[in-house]
Amino acid sequence: MTNEEVLNSTLESLTGRFKEIDDIALFNQRKVLNAFIKNRVSPRHFASTTGYGYDDIGRDTLNKLFADIMCAEDAIVTPMLVSGTHAIAMGLYGLLRPGDKFITLTGEPYDTLSAVFYGKDNGSLEDYGITAKVFPLKDGKIDVERVIDYLKSNEVKLLYVQRSRGYELRAPIMISDLKDALAKIKRHTNAIVYVDNCYGEFTDYSEPLEVGANIIAGSLIKNAGGGIAPTGGYICGGKALIERIEQRLTVPSIGREEGSYASDYRMFYQGLFLAPHVTAQALKCAALFSGAFRSLGYETLPEMHEKQGDIVCSIVFGDKDKLIDFCQTIQTCSPIDGYVTPEPWDMPGYTSQVIMAAGAFVQGSSIELSADAPIREPFVAFLQGGLTFEHAKIALLECLNSVNK
Ligand SMILES: *Cc1c(COP(=O)(O)O)cnc(C)c1O
Repeated sequence: MTNEEVLNSTLESLTGRFKEIDDIALFNQRKVLNAFIKNRVSPRHFASTTGYGYDDIGRDTLNKLFADIMCAEDAIVTPMLVSGTHAIAMGLYGLLRPGDKFITLTGEPYDTLSAVFYGKDNGSLEDYGITAKVFPLKDGKIDVERVIDYLKSNEVKLLYVQRSRGYELRAPIMISDLKDALAKIKRHTNAIVYVDNCYGEFTDYSEPLEVGANIIAGSLIKNAGGGIAPTGGYICGGKALIERIEQRLTVPSIGREEGSYASDYRMFYQGLFLAPHVTAQALKCAALFSGAFRSLGYETLPEMHEKQGDIVCSIVFGDKDKLIDFCQTIQTCSPIDGYVTPEPWDMPGYTSQVIMAAGAFVQGSSIELSADAPIREPFVAFLQGGLTFEHAKIALLECLNSVNK
């Protein structure tokens, strides 16, 4: 088969899956649109503010929109959160107190959160006497039996779930699986269920708060920013919990009352409106790359036709040079910095060297077509994003031409 034929036959075999993705996008688009209308969003909400930012209507309405869309009582959505890591960590600092214990249901956290959990003398949770116990997944699913067993004899303040795969070679936690697991686990505990929702937003018909989670946090430089939000993070959940967390956004006594933004909020609103569609483009991109590389004999995730719970595609190269070549090829197909050659480097917050192809309009944005990989066995590339599916097709052909000469 020529590479063009690989592309076309993969496209053909994905017709059914693409229909499912379109249906999810339609459902979520309606949900987002309804929230905009209900909250009476108008041009005045885009206006910039300065100084303390009291009564910043753009900021406060954005909170309400996210709360409605994520089925939460309340939300914090702000450019003051620099990334997903910051949002996730802030939520944990807001909810946990010295002496509290929490457990992860999905193995080790994402690389950048490792220092937040365990760092030594860096202000980590552990520094404050807050300790985590890690329950690895069992056959790719939450190990419900083991967790329940532990909860029977241990006081736990919070259960931590990471929906997407991070740099693990595993499938994401599907909403349906999360629902089943939480239904069983919550009979044995009153612990707060906290979900790292990065890469999971709008990939399914419901979000974690609808199936038993109490708090979710994520990045606006991924799905929920729609490729348009210039920066930021969000946290959504129960009102009492959000009110604890907001004390850590600024300081106790100020919480969310202050915080101005001298640029304007339009791009946060516009990005959120586009997010269901853009996420669907990214889901198709991941399915396409996965299917095409699979047909060349590579091990990939998601499986062909499989439902997706995040926007990521993992491709196992088993070879350092091939991996680097793949990431570099993605970079050559980028609208921004397409002439640049990325190299592995010691990125802050990551344990191995990492190579990142990110030729994005929003720096480092991974809802835009991007690929990254820790330089370690078995040399897996994590491809994600794609603002337009056409871009994904173009990039796939280039990658096929480079690995399958
Ligand atoms: C990207 C990611 C994060 C961190 O988000 P940043 O915006 O990069 O800080 C956390 N968890 C998961 C699963 C992620 O994919």
